[in-house]
Amino acid sequence: MDTSGCIFCRIANGQIGAAKVFEDKDVVAFLDIAPVSDGHCLVVPKGHYPTLDQCPPEALARIGQVAVAVARAAIAVTGADGYNLLCNNGRAAGQVIAHAHVHVIPRRLNDGLFDKWPSYQYPAGLIEQLAGKIRQKVKDDLD
Ligand code: AMP
Ligand code: ZN
Repeated sequence: MDTSGCIFCRIANGQIGAAKVFEDKDVVAFLDIAPVSDGHCLVVPKGHYPTLDQCPPEALARIGQVAVAVARAAIAVTGADGYNLLCNNGRAAGQVIAHAHVHVIPRRLNDGLFDKWPSYQYPAGLIEQLAGKIRQKVKDDLD
């Protein structure tokens, strides 16, 4: 696959700069250039996987491990009260850069970010129906 146009591949291979906070052979983490809060970081696999579900299990495990370490560090440094781990997968979910990445977003009490969480009630029976179908797919995937 030609990934030469992918900005996160270019950061991962050092072709363009970033404010890096961690790097090993599999993962790089750096400050988001247009943050939603101070210390907002991105944790990115070095391999070009378009979405998180396309990452191999070892990369996923390392991304998770690095994400929580970056979150602890960003909280300690900024004095934030909490953090969100956020991952947009697919254009419908707001993904702009088609190279998997996890946002680490430091949060402060009453900072007003992401206040709208539009929830609703399932009609009768749908929750059991969805749970049954999804449970089977998860089992097929993990077996
Ligand atoms: P997403 O909507 O999840 O694809 O978000 C992509 C994120 O990448 C956005 O928050 C951008 O601000 C960030 N971003 C884009 N280019 C760069 C860059 N060169 N360095 C750091 N962050 C970037
Ligand atoms: Zn890429």
